[in-house]
Amino acid sequence: MNEPLKTGAVIGILGGGQLGRMLCSAASRLGLRAHIFDPASAPPAADVAYATTCAAYEDEAALRRFAADVDVITYEFENIPTSALDILEKLCPIRPGREALRISQDRLTEKDFLTGLGLKTAPYRAVDTRQDLSEAVDALGLPAILKTRRFGYDGKGQARLSTQEDQAPAIADMAGQAAILEGFISFSKEISIIGARNSAGDVACFDPGENIHQAGILRTTSVPAQINATQRMDAVLLAAKIMNALDYVGVMGVELFVTGQGLIVNEIAPRVHNSGHWTQNGCAVDQFEQHIRAIANWPLADGSRHSDVTMTNLIGNDLDALEALSSQAGTALHLYGKAEIKPGRKMGHYNSVRPKS
Ligand code: AMP
Repeated sequence: MNEPLKTGAVIGILGGGQLGRMLCSAASRLGLRAHIFDPASAPPAADVAYATTCAAYEDEAALRRFAADVDVITYEFENIPTSALDILEKLCPIRPGREALRISQDRLTEKDFLTGLGLKTAPYRAVDTRQDLSEAVDALGLPAILKTRRFGYDGKGQARLSTQEDQAPAIADMAGQAAILEGFISFSKEISIIGARNSAGDVACFDPGENIHQAGILRTTSVPAQINATQRMDAVLLAAKIMNALDYVGVMGVELFVTGQGLIVNEIAPRVHNSGHWTQNGCAVDQFEQHIRAIANWPLADGSRHSDVTMTNLIGNDLDALEALSSQAGTALHLYGKAEIKPGRKMGHYNSVRPKS
């Protein structure tokens, strides 16, 4: 399927959270339609999708009906059950492809892949047992971070080890799940780069953004990142290297630590990324449209940035500030339509836009 998708074609999206919702809007701007698949009964994306299938990822009949209705399948999260993908891939192209998912679902596989490409990561060791952890700590030193290999997000499934006494509680926290110990990186800042690649092999990257996390959750992303021209170029080159190695089609987020020894890759996400939300008001074409363009075989947009932007996540009760924010000059609100506020839940974000410096 290398012809560009035409008006009315249907993009199937696995996952109907806020990323799926913003992908739906981007698809509709291009005259395409989006069909969401999500186990929840009223996911945020359902409000703006042309069709929604509410079914479990184990529901083979529902997966088959969904695949029959769509022209290409994409996803908004990486932990899609393999059994569902096995069914879907026989019926419809999945973009980005399975290899990108396989690699990013497992922190150990991901680090092996990245170091295999000659990129720098935190030093790491696989940890399955208390004995493994003790040996890994001996090899990597302290402080270090123990992370589950799978299903970690927003700092969940992680334990920081500062002293030898932290080993026992940290391994208990993993509750028998396979884990990885990472040496602690002393970074000056965290940045991320959002890249896109289409099936013709064209690559376009957005400007790197500078990220601030609080309690493991992304708080703000600001562009331009305060980095030098070499670091900016390195970020673009390494994102392109990763995408080319995977013959990747779609948008990818790459999180990086900036250190005196160069850029260190923290993790990759084979999807649109929270740290790319600034593109909605900083670029003519945002990450969501860029992703839809890539998977629909459209030409990529160039991704140039026309403004300086700070993106701030609205988490839990941050939504109380809505009234003040809604009348603030230069502020673009993006709310996800989630009815229930919960601590740590991403309810929306806003982009504060300033003329390009
Ligand atoms: P992650 O879930 O791997 O993105 O980690 C969440 C946050 O923890 C990162 O954004 C960093 O702020 C911090 N972190 C993760 N891994 C390391 C590391 N190896 N060294 C230092 N800080 C880290």
